[in-house]
Amino acid sequence: MGGHVVGTTPANNGTEGVEGVEGGVGVTALMVAAARAIETHRHDFLARDVYAEHFVRAAPASAGWPVRIQQVPDGDANPLWGRFARYFGLRTRVLDDFLLQSMHTAGAHQVVLLGAGLDTRAFRLDWPRGCVVFEIDRAGVLDFKHKVLDGLSADPKAARVPVPIDLRDDWAGALVESGFDSAAPSVWLAEGLLFYLPAAAETNLIDTVDRLSTQGSALAFEVKLEKDLMEYRNSPIYTSTADQIGIDLLRLFDGEPRPDSAGDLLDKGWSTSMHTPFDFSRRHGRGPLPEDNDALEGNRWVFAKKPRS
Ligand code: SAM
Repeated sequence: MGGHVVGTTPANNGTEGVEGVEGGVGVTALMVAAARAIETHRHDFLARDVYAEHFVRAAPASAGWPVRIQQVPDGDANPLWGRFARYFGLRTRVLDDFLLQSMHTAGAHQVVLLGAGLDTRAFRLDWPRGCVVFEIDRAGVLDFKHKVLDGLSADPKAARVPVPIDLRDDWAGALVESGFDSAAPSVWLAEGLLFYLPAAAETNLIDTVDRLSTQGSALAFEVKLEKDLMEYRNSPIYTSTADQIGIDLLRLFDGEPRPDSAGDLLDKGWSTSMHTPFDFSRRHGRGPLPEDNDALEGNRWVFAKKPRS
């Protein structure tokens, strides 16, 4: 792969060059898949992903991880596989709802999953007829995903177009070359992504989404309020993720000051709304609620729409 167009400082502390799901930031895709597997098997699931456990089992890095809460000795009391996994289940559900509703409202037939990882929405959701789902992630992650899904003979419910590229490179060019139509409405998602990117790559991502979006298009993304990152470094979510599965999230997050992406979109004329996960836990009657020393306290889900004139 050529030189990066943005964010030339070594980002993500040593993950530079790690392409697959076995190391660096790619392994976080397996963690989210394990959480979705656990959610899927709950009697009161918020979202179902029948493919998730197959990813977990297929990768040596995660083959021994639980895929049901019953396999976790302390069950829901476990900060990683209990509360944090439920967080991912809630996030999956909320963003499923956002995508389907936004596609409908925008009259869109194309959706772009930025940092798609092991997201199986192309296979899970009832998309409008003629819909295309573009999945952008690095080649190693997408290769692993295809190998597992091919082995399951999984059938997508939309035309699915993988776009293997690093989001620090010229991904807009690759997306358009893959068939994305910037003259038609689109819906975009950056789920669990932006805090891993260098600040310049995040700014470029927001600029690019704006440039490629027609009026009526929509974008959802997740951010972490910067002040909280170090304040909660000893929170049970971070320490249990490091101790139990060896993923040090704070080292994987990009260390640079974050851009104000919601504010940037407002300046570009988009409307935005910002929510805490807890808003949705209350709405759904399940999911994480605030607690002391809480790594989730600073998580925000932003829903943005480019208004019609
Ligand atoms: N969005 C997916 C989900 O919620 O299941 C995956 C989330 S996972 C926590 C983060 C994903 O971002 C990984 O799949 C990783 O490979 C991807 N990612 C991180 N940095 C990236 C980059 N510079 N270019 C492309 N993908 C990147």
